[in-house]
Amino acid sequence: MIGNVILVGAGPGDPGLLTRKGRWAIRQAQVVVYDRLVSPAILALIPAGARTIDVGKEASHHKVPQHEINEILLREAQAGYRVVRLKGGDPFLFGRGGEELELLKAHGIPFEVVPGVTSALSVPAYAGIPVTHRDFCSSLHIITGHAKAGAELKIDFGALCRTQGTLVFLMGVTALPMICEGLLKAGMDPAMPAAVVERGMTPRQRKLVSTLGELPQAARAARIESPAIIVVGKVCQLSDQFDWFDALPLKGRTVVVTRPKDRAGTLSKKLRALGAEVVEYPCIETVERAENPALDAAMEQLGHYRWLVFTSPAGPEIFMERLWKRGLDARALAGVKLAAIGPKTAGALGRCGLRADLVPEVYDSDHLAKALEAVEGPVLLCRASRGSQALPELFSARGIPFDDIPCYDTVYESPDAGAVLPLLEGETWVTFTSASTVRGFVQSLPGADLSHVLGLCIGEQTAREARTHGLTVRVAREATMESLVELIRETGAGE
Ligand code: SAH
Repeated sequence: MIGNVILVGAGPGDPGLLTRKGRWAIRQAQVVVYDRLVSPAILALIPAGARTIDVGKEASHHKVPQHEINEILLREAQAGYRVVRLKGGDPFLFGRGGEELELLKAHGIPFEVVPGVTSALSVPAYAGIPVTHRDFCSSLHIITGHAKAGAELKIDFGALCRTQGTLVFLMGVTALPMICEGLLKAGMDPAMPAAVVERGMTPRQRKLVSTLGELPQAARAARIESPAIIVVGKVCQLSDQFDWFDALPLKGRTVVVTRPKDRAGTLSKKLRALGAEVVEYPCIETVERAENPALDAAMEQLGHYRWLVFTSPAGPEIFMERLWKRGLDARALAGVKLAAIGPKTAGALGRCGLRADLVPEVYDSDHLAKALEAVEGPVLLCRASRGSQALPELFSARGIPFDDIPCYDTVYESPDAGAVLPLLEGETWVTFTSASTVRGFVQSLPGADLSHVLGLCIGEQTAREARTHGLTVRVAREATMESLVELIRETGAGE
């Protein structure tokens, strides 16, 4: 059976700017052939079973030549695979997408094209530059500034000047002096506003707004490098007024997120929305206990307990699933009161159709213990092995009967230390959402100097653990994800 090729525009990097159809295409792919400009966050969407071919890798400074890429696509499709050709931005805008289709067409391979958000429009937008504005221009021109080494640019500068439109140059960093000179010679005013935006839309975006006459010198002084976009036109003068991306509170900040892989999404997303560069570095994972005779025995006599206590969102999920597998359901909990350590855990109960009877005012084990001080037993504690001792100590001291049953284990992951080690030389912001993430983080970096780590901790217990490892800490006001994000935002704003 013959395969097919979908040419997909991956957009400029932010996964939020990948189209829904593009995402669908990636998810169904068996083979993904991708370029240098496709961001890691988008590559992360490729299904685990799919084969990836990196044709942007510059092995000894030679990228895979275009004719070879064309042949790879043909070969994989002929072998019957669903192939996705992922390209940065839009696949047809200076993306050689057309060339790749020619060979497929000649061999009768079915193909589709999913357009992408192009950097030509989106990078200026993130730099606060509307590419057209009725007061300033009535056209937009997108030009490649790429020239073969040593060759002249083949650009009709006179024609460009006459349009009086906004000019956007891609691949123009090397040729920037020639481009500006060409426009000046063709009669454009040296005072014409002009800008260059490097690594646009990324947390490391740098923008330079100047004039046509002075831009080459300014770009040289700032050591602007590729990828960058050059914009020439009066609209550039709006850049300061409409600056929004550079003004985000965490712009330029790198934040390490140590949460388990399957739970990191929300925190990462919130931090990215504030402009941060997020490094996902999962230090722990929650693993359900396959064999759990103690829990099974407790489930046989749930009616005997007065309280059932959960200390993380994993608890209700695992507990209810096991109950279901044993042929029981929520009715087995009739008469049993439910306590949750915080709103996320209460939310997990809610998803099982259960309401938490008790959530402490401050979301940690100490406060949960205090809130449970006056209850009558027996209490069933359903939580991680090696959990905090605050609850068992309290119940023992008060003579409240309880069973402390480990339902899941927190195992330490071995994330790729290479992703974090280079950051540790300067101040490094690391989020910790439990004491175990702190331990996992420290364990993953044996012998590393952690003196520049600023631990952004969800609660007091987490902070206590971080302090024992000599980390500087800041603690969220309430032990919630929202409060942690707020703490990071405030820290970014220097509060
Ligand atoms: N098809 C792509 C463009 C490929 S040409 C698109 O539609 O976006 C590559 C050029 O795109 C780079 O040389 C640079 O000029 C521009 N570019 C791509 N990503 C960029 C980014 N994040 N910041 C600035 N320029 C970028």
